[in-house]
Amino acid sequence: MVIVGGGCMGASVAYHLARCGITNVVLVEREPALGAGSTGRNAGGVRHQFSHEANVRLSLESIRLFEHFEEEIGYPLDFHQDGYLFLLSSPASAASFARGVEVQTKLGVDVVWLEPDDVAEHAPGVAVDGVHAATFCARDGIADPHGVTQGFANAARRAGVELWLDTAVTGIRILDGAVAAVETTRGEIATRTVVNAAGPWAKQIGALAGVVLPIEPLRRHIFIAQPPSDSGWIRDGVRTAPTSHIMVIDFETTFYFHREGPNLLFGMGDPGERAGGFDTDVDWDLLEHVEPVATRRLPVLADAQLTHAWAGLYEMSPDALPIIGPVEAVGGFYVIAGFSGHGFMHSPAAGRVLADLITGRDPGMETAPFRFDRFTDSRLRRAAAGEANVV
Ligand SMILES: Cc1cc2nc3c(=O)[nH]c(=O)nc-3n(C[C@H](O)[C@H](O)[C@H](O)COP(=O)(O)OP(=O)(O)OC[C@H]3O[C@@H](n4cnc5c(N)ncnc54)[C@H](O)[C@@H]3O)c2cc1C
Repeated sequence: MVIVGGGCMGASVAYHLARCGITNVVLVEREPALGAGSTGRNAGGVRHQFSHEANVRLSLESIRLFEHFEEEIGYPLDFHQDGYLFLLSSPASAASFARGVEVQTKLGVDVVWLEPDDVAEHAPGVAVDGVHAATFCARDGIADPHGVTQGFANAARRAGVELWLDTAVTGIRILDGAVAAVETTRGEIATRTVVNAAGPWAKQIGALAGVVLPIEPLRRHIFIAQPPSDSGWIRDGVRTAPTSHIMVIDFETTFYFHREGPNLLFGMGDPGERAGGFDTDVDWDLLEHVEPVATRRLPVLADAQLTHAWAGLYEMSPDALPIIGPVEAVGGFYVIAGFSGHGFMHSPAAGRVLADLITGRDPGMETAPFRFDRFTDSRLRRAAAGEANVV
């Protein structure tokens, strides 16, 4: 079996296949190190607060594993459960989140509805002008993507999985409608099963097998700011930013931030950015749009010093839900991609589900929302609702 892509998703699939006793597996990654794609550029956010039940279920299982990562995977994980706070500034988003809270609560998530006046208790320094309501889940948090990827990959390797770094997949040979071999820059691997875990590049890997995957890369930026003075995020004895690792998200604008060591990490989507390109250069002009929003919500950022920035790629699907499972038209071709900006947090459960589907086990959860054919079968397409809480 071949897994294409050594990000959190490929590593999780490798680990979960090994747990199912499948160790005749080669994970192929074109970069010299694991986690060099989106996994190495993400904000580390982990949350239960999704609108779609299927996503909440992925979160529940994944967060349980993050909480016990070292015991179960044998690798220490930096994981702070200081919560996610969503600020809602329109009646429409408040109504949509109210429905989401119902879904989450029904599934056992402890999420609370807050009034604007309650926000300061969780997130000092945040200005709430224009905010109608907020939601908070204390078990959401921030985890280290590198630790998760290395943890899964090391455990898979110990079980016998081979990791081929610095090796690109260049072709997929199909015989009689089924996978026969994978061509790489280190030679061909005869196999009847391929897992496409190539993140934002998943469409390209699909094309090698003659499959058109509706997954597009979309550039997203992250900025790092240092506190304005030696007294950190405190001015005149008053906190100007949270001391915890709470993730605060201004849902209408997609501006978000959390503590990153002594600094603040923040980001915001660019409505002008077009999906489809692989450029990950930083567009500093974006700051013109980010700054007014950021300093309105977290005024101390006006005095903070921006130290650096980077950009990475979301892997967007049309309904913001992933594809996890087989592509029926090509025997042995599986996909785990299209997580639309929240794949890191779902990598533990998604990898487990795919390993179960590959090995013919019962995945124990409804996988219809993740099927590839929801995009090819018009009856399924009409029936399905996507994920609304995309940041
Ligand atoms: C700025 C930003 C912030 C984000 N914040 C969050 C967050 O807070 N929480 C969250 O859950 N998610 C977040 N995400 C999304 C998350 O990073 C992704 O969903 C996740 O990392 C996808 O993992 P992956 O393993 O599928 O993809 P990747 O990590 O991109 O891995 C795919 C791998 O495939 C390899 N590859 C591609 N083509 C080939 C080939 N031909 N041969 C061999 N290898 C190949 C690539 O080199 C790459 O390493 C964020 C993303 C970005 C860009």
